[in-house]
Amino acid sequence: MIFKIFAARELAHLFELLAVNRLVGPVKKGQNAQGKDLYDFETLYHFEDLQLDYDQTMHAAKKYFLPHREETGSFTLQGLEWQKEVDYGGHHPLVLFGLHACDINALNKLDKVLLAEPYPNQFYGAKRAEMFIIGHSCQPTPACFCRSMGTDSVLHGCDLFLTPLGDDYFVEIMSSRAFHILENLNLREPDHEDHKRFQEAGQARQGLFTTEVETSDLSKILDMEFDSPVWSEWGRRCLSCGTCAQVCPTCYCYGVEEVVAMNMARAAKIRQLYSCNLLDFAEVAGGHNFRPKSSTRLKYRYYHKHRGFVEAFEEALCVGCGRCGTNCLADITVPEVIASIRRGEVEDV
Ligand code: SF4
Ligand code: SF4
Repeated sequence: MIFKIFAARELAHLFELLAVNRLVGPVKKGQNAQGKDLYDFETLYHFEDLQLDYDQTMHAAKKYFLPHREETGSFTLQGLEWQKEVDYGGHHPLVLFGLHACDINALNKLDKVLLAEPYPNQFYGAKRAEMFIIGHSCQPTPACFCRSMGTDSVLHGCDLFLTPLGDDYFVEIMSSRAFHILENLNLREPDHEDHKRFQEAGQARQGLFTTEVETSDLSKILDMEFDSPVWSEWGRRCLSCGTCAQVCPTCYCYGVEEVVAMNMARAAKIRQLYSCNLLDFAEVAGGHNFRPKSSTRLKYRYYHKHRGFVEAFEEALCVGCGRCGTNCLADITVPEVIASIRRGEVEDV
């Protein structure tokens, strides 16, 4: 990997160089009831709107490559012939500015599923190929447990990664595209003192993690505890609202519906992101529902992320961003669910 240093004031210059493309980054979206600032990824029009000191965005950047609702194809009647149209999207390069390590690792996990042969998802792939991603280091919040999931740093999945060191940025260059763009900035080689500052910043950040998840033997323990009464208790609390999947950077399950125009001259296939917690997620033709209880649906989500995905890819489908717990109206968090499985009981909250 190539490391460089540039002065913090050069960041605006980098922004301007990339502004010929659509830029997306964290912006302030108001405050919650407790007066805490809220952030989300939005299109950037001014450098001043970019809030790189954000703690966590409400939604993941997933909406730019896995839109909540997307037309995957349409059929139009022309005379007696049907004209088929498929648009994979991804015509316009997109710069994602300031993704944290967890969100970049989430993309790497999605790539394993959605870009895998023999049936890669062309819609996801087209958008992913047009992305230029700038990572930025973060300060963990009380909800973060990325360190437990091994996703608190990145080695690939972005073009460059920035770590602020006082008046400088420590830059990790991970693509030739990034290397060539950065040639337009005033860069210098990091020296021994810069390496030391980088390591000290990393150690200081490690000390800020307050939430941990014990992941050792977790897949095996989930197998052993498949019939644990703990699942019923979490199911009793779960509202089956599906919010956790909507905000999760690694959830990719979807449903497909076909929409036909009233005059029958056009039809379209619509793919919509879905959640395995929703009541009808496992309902099939004929009306049978394989998971009618909220407890089995919630359990399924945990087994997919921490059991099935681990078996397939030797890593969990969770980056420890904490969004699902932060946004859950029933206060169901991953650390608490996993701890309760190990304990064999749910503590009162
Ligand atoms: S766990 Fe929470 S966010 Fe997820 S479906 Fe249940 S109530 Fe909704
Ligand atoms: S399951 Fe929750 S903590 Fe894990 S990646 Fe998804 S939103 Fe983040």
